[in-house]
Amino acid sequence: MSRQHYLRIRLVMMEAGGVARPAPQRSQAADLVIDTDHRGMPQLPATSFAGALRQRVREIRPDAVDEWFGFVQGSESRASGIWVLGSRLVDATGALRSGPATTSEVTTTAIDRHSGAAAVRTLRKTQILPAGTRFEIYVRCDAGIPMADLVRCLNDWAPLVGHSTSTGRGRCEVEEVRTGTLDLSTSEGLLTWLTTSGPDLVRSVATKVEPVSRPDVAGATYTLTFRTADGPLAFSLNSDGELPSSRRLPGASIKGVIRSRMEYILRSVGLLNEYACGGVGCGTCVVCQVFGHSAKANVKRVSVGQRALLRVHDAPVTGVVRKRSHAPLDRWTGGVAMASKDEPKVYVANSRGGLLHTFEGVEEGQFTATFVGELPERLKVGFEALLTLVLADIEDGLVGFGRATTRGYGSVSLSAVTVPGEGSLPTREQAQQWVVDELARQSDSEGALA
Ligand SMILES: [Zn+2]
Repeated sequence: MSRQHYLRIRLVMMEAGGVARPAPQRSQAADLVIDTDHRGMPQLPATSFAGALRQRVREIRPDAVDEWFGFVQGSESRASGIWVLGSRLVDATGALRSGPATTSEVTTTAIDRHSGAAAVRTLRKTQILPAGTRFEIYVRCDAGIPMADLVRCLNDWAPLVGHSTSTGRGRCEVEEVRTGTLDLSTSEGLLTWLTTSGPDLVRSVATKVEPVSRPDVAGATYTLTFRTADGPLAFSLNSDGELPSSRRLPGASIKGVIRSRMEYILRSVGLLNEYACGGVGCGTCVVCQVFGHSAKANVKRVSVGQRALLRVHDAPVTGVVRKRSHAPLDRWTGGVAMASKDEPKVYVANSRGGLLHTFEGVEEGQFTATFVGELPERLKVGFEALLTLVLADIEDGLVGFGRATTRGYGSVSLSAVTVPGEGSLPTREQAQQWVVDELARQSDSEGALA
């Protein structure tokens, strides 16, 4: 124990996101807020990083996982030799930041699988840290763990940390790694040990810069470029009816629309039980396997569900922003409706007040939705067939993106599509044939069971 090894790992967030925690209810703030440390500064909890690092070591050095991170098996157990001590917010030069980080908010809802509308009581605001936010993570290694091997595991690593990683959040990269050893048998080592603690101790010991390579992340990508068709596109509006300043359609909104419509198609043709999927997902259908689920029925004790195989990114929307005014009609007077049944005042037509409101929308808009990830062949065929059918529904105006899609907003038409490997999406007939084949396969397997 007279020699202690320390690592300083600087992670940079390549996408907005972060680790969040639920906010107190009805506090007029976001529902999910960025997790902070005792000083109120955003943090990357040690447990989140330790989990991601363990997964990385499992991929690169499966033989070393139990030895490095400990295990419990029956009456045998071993403590972890890697101690993730904590994290601090730093700037691009690696200096500790003292001011709070700027956060922004994203507003999303869930889609009701029966009505197709936004599900009641699912509107939520989520706070996110911007891309480019950097954390320094402090790690101590016990003597038995070869540091060079651990550093090698950090090469080309792009950990997904925090929430909503399947909708374009939380991808990080390792920007810098420093290592160092504290030798308590020397007087300088002992002096450092006795006079510093916490992050300062690790920062003063781990000074040797280790070369780490950055990952090459370009994966198989589907891109779908949409143009707004007839009406404007409105999304993530704040309480004043304004679009977010970033003008980015959240990946969660794109994924939700495509996913729920794929489920709808499966249900309509009898490939999915009427009540299956939606909410936590069924865990067995093509859609759940591609987009992830949290179905407990399908777990083998190790996890509660499955992470998505395809990631959907936020899509920047270009176009002209215009405000439009709307007012619900009072069904009795024909004037502008009152704020509530009990309100004593009646607004007549042309009077200002009542529920008259204005919100912004993008006209002549264009955005490109991207789906990134590798799919096994069987899922790829299913996903592409369903995507073709969903795009047909979008083209027919049956589904739209963003807000108020039944009131002229959010209708889009597809202007360009790319598929990994320079292929193309199946035609509508081929997609329908996939449905027919799947139905035959399903009845075959049911027949075999009976
Ligand atoms: Zn499902």
